[in-house]
Amino acid sequence: MTQPTRPLALSLTAAQFDSLPMTGTRPIAYRDLFASHADLPQATRRWAQAQGLDLRALTLRSRERGARSQKFLFALREGLAVESVLIRRHDGYTACISSQVGCAFACRFCASGQAGLKRNLEAGEIVEQVARLGPKVNRIVFMGIGEPLNNYDNVLKAIRILRDRRGLNFPTTGITLSTIGIPKGLKALREEHLGINLTISLHATTDESRAALIPGSRKHPVREVVERALSWAERHNRDVTFVYLLLAGINDSRADLERLVAMLGGQRARINLMRWNPVDGIKLGRTEDRTLLAFRERLARAGIPVVVRDTQGRDITAACGQLWLRDLNGRALAA
Ligand code: SF4
Repeated sequence: MTQPTRPLALSLTAAQFDSLPMTGTRPIAYRDLFASHADLPQATRRWAQAQGLDLRALTLRSRERGARSQKFLFALREGLAVESVLIRRHDGYTACISSQVGCAFACRFCASGQAGLKRNLEAGEIVEQVARLGPKVNRIVFMGIGEPLNNYDNVLKAIRILRDRRGLNFPTTGITLSTIGIPKGLKALREEHLGINLTISLHATTDESRAALIPGSRKHPVREVVERALSWAERHNRDVTFVYLLLAGINDSRADLERLVAMLGGQRARINLMRWNPVDGIKLGRTEDRTLLAFRERLARAGIPVVVRDTQGRDITAACGQLWLRDLNGRALAA
């Protein structure tokens, strides 16, 4: 794996910024680092040059516009690429950002997992995606390419930088981390005081069906994933959202439903039920309407807040990773 050599200015925490010698150049403020990419002041450029830092790491390669969303393809310094999506909501904009180049988990429903993991993104490369999507962004979701808990240190550092009052000052409750649920990462996350939201891409109630859908999760028992997530919810006094992508004949049986109820009933949990819409090249079947309704009704009866989202629906923010990126490449969102 090739790593960029010059350190990134956007990887600096405020404390690291303060500890830099300001000699030989006009001092700048920490918030100056986050200025709009188009007009980074000369003073900031000179400061970065004097410090031996790269101010920016991403070069815009393409921009695809959908009805409610735009996908940005950014080239990284060594030539790899990363995708970010800007989604318009009725009350603002969501930046859907990537945490890794590629992904090691190889989910069957996700294109970016198939090529494997190339490398982790640095904190500054994560922060820059948000900065580049513009000042209207008031929500951030780690639902782009990569598994954020697999790049724990850089993702956590990026969140702290994004939230720093002296920098972008991003609202504390406006950040959602979406993960397939790595128990070790969830355990560590439980002890962090970040004010973020947590979404778990569950998709299965048995280890066998989960391993078939998310091969990279084979060594993480589903029970442990759920327990760790619920423990995070208790500790932070907020609900955790479980995403369940219904797939015909794989995870949509009556037994799956009852296991789901037993796992999440009476807990600080919500469920986003998603329905698969067939895509070329991925052999997964669409659950029938009546099965979807049965899941929704049974979960609601069990007192679990449940919403239904369609992978080709208008609301793409609840999907994990490439679900929505793939959709953006397809017809549904552009239609
Ligand atoms: S869905 Fe998420 S975890 Fe799964 S392969 Fe894609 S990016 Fe990785």
